[in-house]
Parts: sequence; structure tokens; C-alpha cells
Amino acid sequence: DLLIVGSANADLVIGVERRPAAGETVLGSDLAVHPGGKGANQAVAAARLGARTALLARVGDDDHGKLLLDSQRTAGVDTVGVLVGEVPTGVALITVDPSGDNSIVVSPGANGRLTPGDIRAAASLFHASRVVSTQLEIPLETVVEVVRSLAPGSRFVLNPSPPRALPREVLDACDPLIVNEHEAKVILGTSRVGDTPEDWARILLAKGPRSVVITLGAEGALVASADGARRIPAVRVDPVDTTGAGDAFTAALAWRLGTGESLAEAAAYAARVGAAAVTKAGAQASYPTAAEVEAL
Ligand code: ADP
Repeated sequence: DLLIVGSANADLVIGVERRPAAGETVLGSDLAVHPGGKGANQAVAAARLGARTALLARVGDDDHGKLLLDSQRTAGVDTVGVLVGEVPTGVALITVDPSGDNSIVVSPGANGRLTPGDIRAAASLFHASRVVSTQLEIPLETVVEVVRSLAPGSRFVLNPSPPRALPREVLDACDPLIVNEHEAKVILGTSRVGDTPEDWARILLAKGPRSVVITLGAEGALVASADGARRIPAVRVDPVDTTGAGDAFTAALAWRLGTGESLAEAAAYAARVGAAAVTKAGAQASYPTAAEVEAL
């Protein structure tokens, strides 16, 4: 089974003609409220594909928490690990201008209260999981505890987003570390990164991960390990909305690795899932079923 540990947010979206300056008020569109957060997105993406998936996360005892639990259950995610507490559900306040550019304020809320103790209390979920996937919208000490809680033989997948420097213990556990170009640059820090994704992958591997995947949007992806590096071509589609494509890619890759596929095979499947996700608006609403991936 697949275990996703991570964030669950309500995305509150308003369209605006232009963003307000300090002290200014602008009128916007009707409010749209969508389930989001990288952990919740990954869990829905995997379950939609047919993966047996559990989510370990925290939400508040509020309407946003109910929205998130509903969307997880509708997708078929096991929500026994979704903890409900006093602190409000995480929120992303998103304004979108006519060119499609976003400005986003995130209130981590309950996501910031997912503690190492919560991870230790979920030992049975870890024992039932071949693959555990997480991101960085929860406290770093909680991610460290996830690494320490992995069952023998199970595999750890990390998308370090939003990116920050990582302790060696976490880097060493990644198989793979999945980054886009921006995340690769932050993880590499001030070290000279070279010109090509192959260069970045080589330097990232030297920092400890057993394998690395670099996602390249419409250019596809690159997979790299001690066996060498390989390009995974993108599936050609007409993009409508790329929101959440990276989360769908990561979830699909994690699931396929758990079924025994090689990194290159899993990434090729994940590229099809990511491509399908960009052909529809929204994040979770855009995630394909396995049949829709086959039809692509
Ligand atoms: P992120 O959203 O994290 O920046 P990417 O934009 O690289 O991640 O997208 C993740 C994956 O989704 C890519 O590696 C690719 O396989 C697929 N994908 C994203 N955008 C497109 C696109 N325009 N056409 C085809 N595939 C895409």
C-alpha cells in the first residue's frame, strides 16, 4: 500500500483584474473553494488511479476540514490517519489575475501541528506501506520522524516543496528525491549547478539520495541513479492548467514503484498522469483514472 504523509489545505481562489497595493481594496470574482495541499493532492491522485492509499495529515474541526475529508473519501483514500484537532485547517488564499499569474498566502494551520509524535502513533500505517511519500508543507522534524519510522524494505519518496536545505539523514533516505528546476536549485544551494538537468542530477545524487527525478514540465523528466541518467519524454497534450501536475506525477511514480516497476518505467507512467492532469482545470479535479491514462 501507499502512504502519503503531508499537508491538506483549502484553496480559496478569487479572480482579480489586478492585485491590490498596500492599503488598497479591489473587487474580485465569486470565491471558489477547492481541496488542496500537496499531501491531500497526492493521496487523491494515487487513489483515483486505483492505488490503495492512506493519508496521514492534520485538519481542523471546521468546514474546510470536512471538505478535505470528503474529497479524500470520495476518491477512495483511507482517512484513518487524518487527525482532526483544534487548530484551523490550513488555507491558501489565492488571487489570480487575467494573465493567469497567482499571488498566494498560505496559513499552514493544522499542517504545522503534525508532530513527530503523530508519526510515531501511526506505526501501523507505516508497517502496512511499501512506499511512503511526503513533501515539505509540514514541519521538517516531522519529515525526519517519517524517515525514522519507515518499515524495513519500504521505500521513501520526497518532493521537497516548498524547497529548503535538508539534513543528510533525510537526503540519504530518498529513493527518489523528486524536484522541479526551482526546487533543484534551492536544494543545491550556492553550489555551482552546471547547465543541464543531467548536471543537476549528478550533483544532487552526490548529496545522498539513492535516486533523483527532475521534472521538466512540457519537456518531461529525467531519472538518475548510480546506474546512470535517462530522459523520460513528455506526452504531448494541449495544456489547460498545470496546477497540481507535479503532485499527480509524484503520486503516480510512488504507486508504480510500489508495484515493482523500475524508476524509468514508473516515471514514464507518471509522465502520462502529469500530462493528463494538465489537460483539465484545477488540481484534484484534474486527476485521471487509470482508464483515462490508458486512453491518452
Ligand atoms: P511542478 O508542477 O512540480 O513544477 P512539472 O511542471 O515539471 O512539475 O510537471 C510534472 C510532470 O507533469 C512533468 O514532468 C511532465 O511529465 C508532466 N507535465 C507537466 N506539464 C506538462 C505539459 N505542458 N505537457 C505534458 N506534460 C506535462
